[in-house]
Amino acid sequence: MSFGEKLYEGKAKIIYATDDPEVLLTYFKDDATAFNAQKRGQIVDKGKINCAISTELFQRLAAAAIPTHWIDTISDREMRVKALTIIPLEVVVRNLAAGSLCRQTNLPLGQRLDPPLVEFYYKNDDLGDPLLTLDRIHAMALASQEQIATLRRQALKINQLLTDFFMGCGITLVDFKLEFGLDPSQQVILADEISPDTCRLWDQTATDETQRVMDKDRFRQDLGQVEQAYQRVLDRVLAQSPKN
Ligand code: UDP
Repeated sequence: MSFGEKLYEGKAKIIYATDDPEVLLTYFKDDATAFNAQKRGQIVDKGKINCAISTELFQRLAAAAIPTHWIDTISDREMRVKALTIIPLEVVVRNLAAGSLCRQTNLPLGQRLDPPLVEFYYKNDDLGDPLLTLDRIHAMALASQEQIATLRRQALKINQLLTDFFMGCGITLVDFKLEFGLDPSQQVILADEISPDTCRLWDQTATDETQRVMDKDRFRQDLGQVEQAYQRVLDRVLAQSPKN
């Protein structure tokens, strides 16, 4: 497929226009960033692995009646997606305490959160993606109360589906980040990607805290074996695929 105009280049992906205004092309790069892009690097073949994992997970979610932007995957790094108006919120779901939640509270690493936490962050690099309150979202007119209710409901449903799926892979879904957009009929649609870049995934078969990390924390914390961990996630995800 020929690339149209480059519309946007993010930290991990490039978005291109296509000859159909309702369709965009997402290209998955190997570039990795952390700590609001203060740490930069490359993870060999990350783009291919994340494209494949996202493809599998989007298909599973679509089969469970979650509307997603995924149309098809046309090469090992390229996905065709529905053109949406992205809602500038990062929706984070947490099953166990980790990352910024541990840094900002006294919750210990790995503490179970029951019910799961749903948090909204403002998608704005200049401001460092701050945590929002519902009143702030309202004051900033980022989303309506009805849309927030839909985001929360969808996020929790996705969490249940992904938690169960990863459990079957021997992986604990600790937390993850989702992004959503609106289609021309204002329907809320899941967008972006779901991958070890955007999820914390712990290997249930690992014997220690460092070994269990199968996600971008290996890059963030210089734990090594980053490519191998991403590849192991993909292998386990594909092993659960109905095509195998
Ligand atoms: N996350 C993400 N993009 C972001 C911020 C967070 O994909 O810009 C994911 C992150 O990988 C983790 C979850 O959202 O799975 C919660 O991240 P947290 O708030 O703990 O921030 P972190 O400590 O990872 O910066």
